Amino acid sequence: MPQVRTRFAPSPTGYLHLGGLRTALYTWLLARKNDGVFILRIEDTDQEREVPGAVDLIYQSLRQAGLDWDEGPDVGGPVGPYVQTQRKDLYLPYAMQLVEKGAAYPCFCTKEELDARREEATKRGETFKYDKHCLSLSREEAKQRMAAGEPYVIRQNVPTTGTAGFDDMLYGHVEAPCDTLDDNVLIKADGLPTYNFANVVDDHLMGITHVTRGTEYLSSAPKYNLLYAAFGWTPPLYLHLPVVMKDATRKLSKRHGDPSFEDLLDMGYLREAIINFIALLGWSPGDDREFFTLQELVQAFDTKGLSKSPAIFNMDKLTWFNTEYIRKLSEEEYLAMVTPWFDKALDGISIDYPRLAQLMQGRTEVFNRVPDMVRFLKEMPPYELDLYANKKQKSTLESSLASLQFVRPVLEAIDPWQESAIHDALMTAIAQSGRKNGTVLWPLRIALSGLQSTPGGAIEIAWLLGKQECLCRIDQAVAALQWQE
Ligand code: GLU
Repeated sequence: MPQVRTRFAPSPTGYLHLGGLRTALYTWLLARKNDGVFILRIEDTDQEREVPGAVDLIYQSLRQAGLDWDEGPDVGGPVGPYVQTQRKDLYLPYAMQLVEKGAAYPCFCTKEELDARREEATKRGETFKYDKHCLSLSREEAKQRMAAGEPYVIRQNVPTTGTAGFDDMLYGHVEAPCDTLDDNVLIKADGLPTYNFANVVDDHLMGITHVTRGTEYLSSAPKYNLLYAAFGWTPPLYLHLPVVMKDATRKLSKRHGDPSFEDLLDMGYLREAIINFIALLGWSPGDDREFFTLQELVQAFDTKGLSKSPAIFNMDKLTWFNTEYIRKLSEEEYLAMVTPWFDKALDGISIDYPRLAQLMQGRTEVFNRVPDMVRFLKEMPPYELDLYANKKQKSTLESSLASLQFVRPVLEAIDPWQESAIHDALMTAIAQSGRKNGTVLWPLRIALSGLQSTPGGAIEIAWLLGKQECLCRIDQAVAALQWQE
């Protein structure tokens, strides 16, 4: 078997969407799994849709995802250039070869003429297909008009009878009656090739062995195979991948507010978690294993595990993966990652970040949720006094007031302010007084945080806040509870 050569061929029309990233991942895996070559090709022949900066975004996203390419615009390679507009002069001669063979023809129909014919077809209730009007021009006339500078395109001459088809690694044999296929434009009036032509020429010239792309190209692939046949080239193996859906009926789409890969990274999803999750969107290892590093995916990936049904992008599942990946970080890694998120909420006050990080690591699902979870350390949030009443902790508003009045002098006497000292002093005082832990520690936590649920309990929060802040919050809570009596 020849060396496997795969390519990811994005058009620079914006950010890399998650479906695109999954295609890139599977394409990369296919190459790495087979000790093959992974190529990046930029398909920019549709200049109207090009978005400035999009190529850099593609590079950036692929790098962040850890998908390195062996050949591509920036790294070069033996079959470059790898940007289609930089190859623009090579397509026309190939199209002319097809014209010579009768598999393509120049077409001079203007936009107005085509629009008029399209309108007539619509009136008759038909879908418009190019009517091969210019196929009947004599070779001489066509040549003359081309030489005279009249604008023209080159169209594929799809046979009017028979069928065209190809074999897909996932979908099996796909075929269509030729009379349903349109005579696609191969070379546009501006001289640039369309995707329909460039993909065939480039995949051939670049020695691509496996073409992986979305199922939106499944219905056009029979036509591409006709082109391979007309050239006498061996077509590559095709692997079309089902779409990534937001739910049972809607496609994932940035326009409808669904996040891109970059968005997810900005939100505080770990790239390892995103990649692991995306790998399983339509592929399964054949057992119930769920966690894979990129390297483990290379080992495990097998196209036999791909599924034909559209994959559903379940954000909760991604968040679950992320939570698990965050738990697996070392304390140092977590601290480094969480620090900017702590800064967002706690800037300007002195808090023991390493200790806070220890308390937060097991509760972090996505980093962008961290600031709201720790903000109470800087600012006491408004809260309802009802929070003090908690059956399980045997705590009422009255008992809370008494408990807070009881702990205040205990805390005030602690010197130096250490977490273990706070723990020992509180526990001893509670035991000696015959009170229940919950009846004291619950209201203390509420008084210090205003929250039912916090990273760590009353003791840890007291230590993080510092003695002065702690006493001050207790005094305010006591005043509020007294006021309400
Ligand atoms: N340029 C096409 C796109 O971005 C890629 C299709 C292909 O991989 O052949 O959709």
